Parts: sequence; structure tokens; C-alpha cells
Amino acid sequence: MSTDVVVIGAGVMGASIALELARAGRRVIVVDKAGGVGLGSTGASSAIVRFNFSTHAGVAASWEALFCWRAWPEHLGCEVADPVRFERCGLALLDVDAAPREAYLPLFDAVGVPYEEWDADTLAARIPGLDTGRYWPPRRLDDEGFWAPATGRLGAVFTPDAGYVSDPQLAAQNLAAAAKRHGAEFRFRRTVTAIESTAGRVRTVVLDDGSRLACATVVNAAGPWSGRINELAGVGADFTIGVRPLRQEVEYLRAPDGYNPRGGAGVAVADLDLGVYLRGEVGGGLLVGGTEPECDPLQWLDDPDQANPNPTQAVFEAQVTRAARRLSGLTVPNRARGVVGVYDVADDWTPIYDRTELDGYYVAMGTSGNQFKNAPLVGLMMAALIEAVDNGADHDADPVCFVGTHTGERIDLGAFSRRRSVNTANSGTVFG
Ligand SMILES: Cc1cc2nc3c(=O)[nH]c(=O)nc-3n(C[C@H](O)[C@H](O)[C@H](O)COP(=O)(O)OP(=O)(O)OC[C@H]3O[C@@H](n4cnc5c(N)ncnc54)[C@H](O)[C@@H]3O)c2cc1C
Repeated sequence: MSTDVVVIGAGVMGASIALELARAGRRVIVVDKAGGVGLGSTGASSAIVRFNFSTHAGVAASWEALFCWRAWPEHLGCEVADPVRFERCGLALLDVDAAPREAYLPLFDAVGVPYEEWDADTLAARIPGLDTGRYWPPRRLDDEGFWAPATGRLGAVFTPDAGYVSDPQLAAQNLAAAAKRHGAEFRFRRTVTAIESTAGRVRTVVLDDGSRLACATVVNAAGPWSGRINELAGVGADFTIGVRPLRQEVEYLRAPDGYNPRGGAGVAVADLDLGVYLRGEVGGGLLVGGTEPECDPLQWLDDPDQANPNPTQAVFEAQVTRAARRLSGLTVPNRARGVVGVYDVADDWTPIYDRTELDGYYVAMGTSGNQFKNAPLVGLMMAALIEAVDNGADHDADPVCFVGTHTGERIDLGAFSRRRSVNTANSGTVFG
């Protein structure tokens, strides 16, 4: 069997890349070892759309991607049975020394991301029930300093256009449905077991049922498994950026009454001061996740399939207690409830969207827990990159530049190179 492109992984990235390549007229086969679309990292995602990143490319990409979510049917280019919604709720990034305003506001200004600077009184007035206390640094619950009184008050930077996508797995399914309309084929319950190349060019993807897919192009969009896929392809020698799978838990709760005072969407809060983020959920719920505070050991994995799939009481109590410190009226339930996910963290928490040393073999990986929001754009950027390289561009020497159709922003794809210098401005956390 032969095709133009094999995309490995039917998560939100693989589905988006398949859509754009199929829309551009290529024959695409998407392979996934799971039984359907969006069952990897994507299904566990908190699906927050925000714009705080440490590079111009990061901010510009997230701002451009917002417009794809806001005009979802237009982005898909066809009707789908159950389209996701973008819920605009705004996001308040609480002040912390580790992420000072002066580090990212110039990027917002350059890209044109609207924002409001709030002092502590405004923060308290705009998010009812929010404690503006400064508790830095984040601490473990068994640290007696955890309950110490606040040492000051915090303001925040509010981005009114931030929000979240109503269902991340369904978003991937929407993209896959649109890709199928353009002829993309999806094969589930098929594991890629080998990737063959000759003369420095990728040739064939081999599946566990013995089928061989001859192709000119392969895109590794295997999420936390992407490192393993690179090993199969024999690539990675020239990567300056490493990636590692990290296990994460996100808690699901009922939102306290004050959080959605008029039935509107409660403002999402990024709280590096206490080490959590929180956002409202469709139907009056609340999601609480962690921001990798230094006091919590990170749960690195050698094999994503070895991740304990159940939320643990210890992480649940730590994250919800921190959130309850910030949001009055929130209580800590006795039983852990939430989801577990694994994401592949790049050394500098910045994704790798790139070609590789093997001609025809591309990667969309290292999404570092912060790239769901960019998925619709990543399909477009990868299709543009593949097109340019096919037409002779030397992307490594002279990086391809992508111009966003909604914002007109120029996004230097060299910022996502496998061979970049480590982005030292990164926060060392999921915030990128
Ligand atoms: C808990 C959590 C919270 C997050 N919150 C946010 C957020 O709020 N905002 C945000 O922007 N991002 C967030 N993210 C990150 C975002 O969800 C991911 O970046 C994104 O979903 C990655 O999608 P993907 O398609 O690359 O990977 P995946 O969804 O993991 O898809 C990869 C697919 O590859 C398949 N595969 C792997 N190996 C093989 C093989 N050998 N053969 C065939 N198939 C294979 C897998 O089955 C899987 O379906 C979060 C992630 C997690 C886990």
C-alpha cells in the first residue's frame, strides 16, 4: 500500500496535521494504536487557551490559534455533527517574581494581545471570593509554613480573550472528521513497529499487523510516545532539545458558589504563587491543575504506558488545598476525582515542530503540556513547513516563516526547531 503521508498519532495534533495536508491535496493515512481519536494526552487536557509564553513565536502562535477556535466551523471548513465551543472566560495571571510582568507584557504589546493590569483591590473585586494574599513559595501540605499568613498582596494581568475549549477529545474528533472529508484515512488499533529508510530518506511505515505503508512523508505526532517513534526512525542525533514524558493529575470539583456569580464563566486563574491553575467547567464545575512547583516531585516516566491511570489522594489533596487557599468557599472532598494525563516535556517547555535529519520525516512533539491551544495552527504550520521543504527550502539554515491569516503575525518556525538553542527565558513550568 502506498500513500503520500503517514501521520503517526490521532491526537489533536495528528488530526489537525492530517486535515491541513489532506486539504492541500495529499493522500494521508493516520495511524493510532488506540481505539479512536484523541485518547492520548489530548483526552486529559485542560484545554485552556491563553497567551502567556516566553517568546514572540509562542505568544504570536497562541494569539493566532485563538481565532481558529473562535471561528471553529470556518476553520474546519465543513459541518461536523457536534462541534466544540470556545468558552471565553478571561484569565488572570497572578503576579510572581518568577514570571514578572515586564518579561511578557512587551510580547503582548508586540503581538497586540489585549490585557488589563490589575492591582490587588481590582483582582479582589473582579474575582469574587479570591484571596489576594502572597504566599510564595509554593509549599507541601506537610510543611508547617504552608499555613503561614500572607506576606503581601498580589495583583494580576488579565487577558479577557483567554478561555477554554469545551471538550478537547471532541475537538480532535472534529478535526479528524474534517480531515476525512478531504480523503484522509484513519487506522485505529494499529501500532507503528518500524520506520524504514534508504539513502537518508524515509520510505515505509510498518504496522503491527504486518502491513507496510510506503510513503514520501511521515509526521511523528505521537505525543508522549514521540521519543520512542524517533528511535524507530533512527533520528535524534542532531536534536539539541530532549523530551521526557511527565505524568500529571487534574482535579474535577464543583465550583464554589461565588466563582460564577452571575452564572457566567468564572475567570481562569494561573497561580504560580501557590502552584496551581484553575478554570471553570461547563455545567458549574471547576478544574484544578498543578504548575510544577519546585516543592512537588515531578513524576517523570520512561514509558508513558506505565503511568498510574488513577488520581492519587496525595496530589489531589495538595492541589485542591492550594486552590482552596486561593478561592474561598472551595472545600476539599474526601475522595480524589479527576483525570490523569501524560505529556512530553521539552527541555525548555517549548514544542518541536520541525523536519529532522531524515528527509521526509517530521516531528510535532515536545508539546510540554501547553500546546492543545495551538493545535489548529500547528496543522497549518506543519503543512506549510512540509510544502516549503518539498520545494527546496533549507529550513535548518534559513527557517521558514509562517504568516497567520487572522492576525497577520509572522511566526518564525525556527523558534520550534529541534536544533535551537535552549530557550532560557522559559519559566521551567507548563507555562512555557
Ligand atoms: C493533564 C493535561 C493538561 C493539559 N492542559 C492543557 C491546557 O490547558 N492547554 C493546552 O494548551 N494544553 C494542555 N495540555 C497539553 C495538550 O493537551 C497536549 O499538548 C496535546 O493534547 C498533545 O496532543 P498530541 O496529539 O501531540 O498527543 P496525544 O493526544 O497524546 O496523541 C498521540 C497519539 O499517538 C498515538 N501513538 C503513540 N505511539 C504510537 C504508535 N507506536 N503507533 C500508533 N500510534 C501511536 C497514541 O495512541 C496517541 O493517541 C495538557 C495536557 C495534559 C496531559
